[in-house]
Amino acid sequence: MTISVESMKNNRHYDYVIAGGGLAGLSLAYAMVHTPVLKDKKIIIIDRQPKQQNDRTWSFWTRQSTRFDHIIYKTWKKIDFFSNYLQKRFELVHYRYATIRGIDFYREVYHKLNQCSNVHFAFGEIIDIGQREEIAYARTHSDIFYGTYLFNSLFQPELYDPYQKGYHYIRQHFKGYLIHTPEPFFDSSAVTMFDFRTEQKDGVYFFYILPYREDCALVEYTGFSRELLDEQVYDAQLQKYIRSQLQLTDYQIKETEFASIPMTDYPFCTRQGRIVYIGVQGGGSKPSTGYAFMRIQKQVEKIVKNLQTKGTPFYKPDFRPQFGFYDAMLLNIMHREGWKVEKIFSEMFRKNPIERIFRFLDEESSIVEDFLIMASVPPLPFLESIVNLLVGRKPIKRYRN
Ligand SMILES: Cc1cc2nc3c(=O)[nH]c(=O)nc-3n(C[C@H](O)[C@H](O)[C@H](O)COP(=O)(O)OP(=O)(O)OC[C@H]3O[C@@H](n4cnc5c(N)ncnc54)[C@H](O)[C@@H]3O)c2cc1C
Repeated sequence: MTISVESMKNNRHYDYVIAGGGLAGLSLAYAMVHTPVLKDKKIIIIDRQPKQQNDRTWSFWTRQSTRFDHIIYKTWKKIDFFSNYLQKRFELVHYRYATIRGIDFYREVYHKLNQCSNVHFAFGEIIDIGQREEIAYARTHSDIFYGTYLFNSLFQPELYDPYQKGYHYIRQHFKGYLIHTPEPFFDSSAVTMFDFRTEQKDGVYFFYILPYREDCALVEYTGFSRELLDEQVYDAQLQKYIRSQLQLTDYQIKETEFASIPMTDYPFCTRQGRIVYIGVQGGGSKPSTGYAFMRIQKQVEKIVKNLQTKGTPFYKPDFRPQFGFYDAMLLNIMHREGWKVEKIFSEMFRKNPIERIFRFLDEESSIVEDFLIMASVPPLPFLESIVNLLVGRKPIKRYRN
């Protein structure tokens, strides 16, 4: 179908079209309506359907306040680490570890946006995104929406061709049980961030526990590997861990969660003409950990700041190349010999204060701290990675104009 520029201008024209109303799209709209110079802009958010389920829980560490502090479900100041090499509890001083339930986030953002007559929602499958001259558009089966700028958060794995260019594409896959116990059982003051006491085969495998209360916790079995496992393996592993490691027999599973998210060092494109990529699709997920909540909030704040000060949303992602290299080294190890990661993480957590590790993972550490972290891990797997990266990689352009 040919679209005339005139019809674009007259018909359904918005200042900002937001493709995908998940974490990034909704965070962006929420930040916009809280920003005086943007709060009256005409915005449309397009998604398949309204969010009515608690489809995920976002956990993150931070030492700053966020726009969503008032809907945080729980925070912790203690972190547990377990492996066959190390058992250690860390106390957080400047940081907190926090969780926001998806449903609380969706309700809060919908509530705020529904009060703004300039913000609209459309529901349907987006089948095409593009631009012509000075206008970007998103098309569903029944409509087409035009915008001065379009923010695209639809993750398209087919855009990435990592293996052939020496990049990595690993899946982070996990199944979680929200379990209730009739008697108090969990230590609700501490998150188990890693419990590696499980078989490490063709990838990295660990358990993760978020104890919401003494009688209620989310227990997850997580893998970082090239392939997913058979469905029954997740259940078998969870049941074995709960029974044998936690020594818990009397419990009820109230909810389950399953997901597979990308972990890749492929350089994401952040911009193409009037289209700005946001969320995971804009590189909002930390390649070596999959944590995305705070990175996406930072991405959103940069876009809003640029719109406010320069009138355009284009921002330069923070680019401290050493962190891209550290991520790539770790992904390379996960890709080749994931079972070594238990030892690597154990040494890292043994020899470094956890807040230094958090700064490192947030890409906010100093050169000295980077050195201390790198000096704390077994060197051999990293040396092999360096060789692999130097000989295997081909440069890729980050921006497409
Ligand atoms: C179960 C789960 C738990 C996670 N837990 C954490 C965590 O604890 N901490 C953390 O930091 N990160 C976590 N993540 C990773 C990351 O934070 C989330 O994936 C986050 O939701 C990414 O935000 P996004 O906006 O990029 O994508 P999404 O939130 O997935 O939003 C994309 C939106 O686009 C819509 N969409 C896609 N295609 C189309 C289409 N063709 N037409 C119309 N709409 C479309 C989808 O319906 C969706 O609403 C988790 C991810 C999952 C899946």
